[in-house]
Amino acid sequence: MVLNFSEQGTPMLGLAKKRIWKYNFMKSSYDAVIIGGGLHGLATAYYLAKEHGMNDVAILEKRFIGFGGAGRNTAIVRANQRTQYNVPLYKEALDLWPVLTRELDFNLMFNNCGNLNLLHSEAAMKTARMNISTAQFHGVESHLLDAKQTKEMEPALNISEDMTYPIHGAMYHPPGGVVRHDAVVWGLAKGATKLGVHIHQQTEATAIHTENGKISGVSTSGGRINTPRVLVSAGGYSAGIIFRMLGVKLPISVLTIQAMVTQPLKPLFNHVVSSGAYHAYANQTLKGEIATGAHMDPWPNYTTQTTAYYIKHQAEALSEFLPCLRGVKFMRIWGGLADMTPDMAPIMDGNDPVEGFYMDCGWGYFGFKSCSVVGKYMAEFMAEGNCPGILKPFHLRRCEQHRLMGETAALVNYSPDN
Ligand SMILES: Cc1cc2nc3c(=O)[nH]c(=O)nc-3n(C[C@H](O)[C@H](O)[C@H](O)COP(=O)(O)OP(=O)(O)OC[C@H]3O[C@@H](n4cnc5c(N)ncnc54)[C@H](O)[C@@H]3O)c2cc1C
Repeated sequence: MVLNFSEQGTPMLGLAKKRIWKYNFMKSSYDAVIIGGGLHGLATAYYLAKEHGMNDVAILEKRFIGFGGAGRNTAIVRANQRTQYNVPLYKEALDLWPVLTRELDFNLMFNNCGNLNLLHSEAAMKTARMNISTAQFHGVESHLLDAKQTKEMEPALNISEDMTYPIHGAMYHPPGGVVRHDAVVWGLAKGATKLGVHIHQQTEATAIHTENGKISGVSTSGGRINTPRVLVSAGGYSAGIIFRMLGVKLPISVLTIQAMVTQPLKPLFNHVVSSGAYHAYANQTLKGEIATGAHMDPWPNYTTQTTAYYIKHQAEALSEFLPCLRGVKFMRIWGGLADMTPDMAPIMDGNDPVEGFYMDCGWGYFGFKSCSVVGKYMAEFMAEGNCPGILKPFHLRRCEQHRLMGETAALVNYSPDN
């Protein structure tokens, strides 16, 4: 039997060689340290090495890569956001999936099935027209459908009057769909380590050090690292880390988002269907399961606990607008953390309050669809020290300047009463 040794020196069966990303011992210094082995940390490291030749980079992950939202999300991608700042960012993110699949030589399983955002009132139809105009202005395909056209697009939908929130129409967004989330984690880890990046799993960042207004290092559960640059991209944990380690308070609340899958079924529907009024969305995975989620639990919470209330809510909502699912069994339920800003737009900033400090957080439930493009531009920011134009509107100080973005409307979260 072949014995290999893991990063921690413990013997492992011959499987270690088959891993698609490499293990390395931790060095005492790096050009950059990234806290968080999630989607954004991995993507930033990949682009630092690929686009900027900066491969002396360490990713610190306190558990295992994909442990956070990266491995828990429902994998939906789309670009029909609300504001002129967000739409171009998410459009480029959508365009990057096929590019990354080729570059990483790893099948990310982009299923370009399109998204249908159901609309349940005339007011919602009117507001959707604004979203559609913004999207079309930025070259993003998005159309308004009436109830009959929506039913033609997705025959499984109930468009009768006999439901709590009858369907008036839908916002149809053909370029969106679903990408396999764990493939994105593995593919980026493979791509980054191939270019020389070190990934240190089971290694928690415990302190960030500064000297004369500049970043000087990071303490970890595996020892101290000297570095002039630190990126905090730790998902739901970012705000706590930044406050504890640098004393900067972020306007972020952390809430739980839950998701579930049903037993596998024959092909029933083809799009990602979501409803703001019912607070539920669903799509059928390539395995046949119905993956379904909803908006987050409305109270701040650092746990990933699931609730019976949520199961009941999903069952009731889905059986109204997708009645063919009545009686189908749920197989699994899980929860993850969402870091929410007041305007539901992220915070991407750098060199403030100390030189060499960068943050990429506040993604709520938009952090999967954005990770590719954000990695690309955060890498540029860290390598060159200047904020790329596309990221500038997302600086932290917009919150104290009362210049919030109004990205909440991207959810098409219109109740029938507004
Ligand atoms: C149920 C659910 C459904 C979702 N659905 C979607 C969706 O369909 N589409 C979409 O776009 N988004 C979705 N999201 C949101 C998305 O998953 C997150 O926004 C995204 O994962 C954020 O990426 P990240 O890289 O910033 O953080 P994460 O992916 O959460 O990674 C952060 C990592 O940092 C690590 N970490 C924390 N503290 C430390 C420390 N001190 N030292 C070292 N490492 C540390 C964590 O262990 C974690 O692995 C969903 C989220 C959930 C929970």
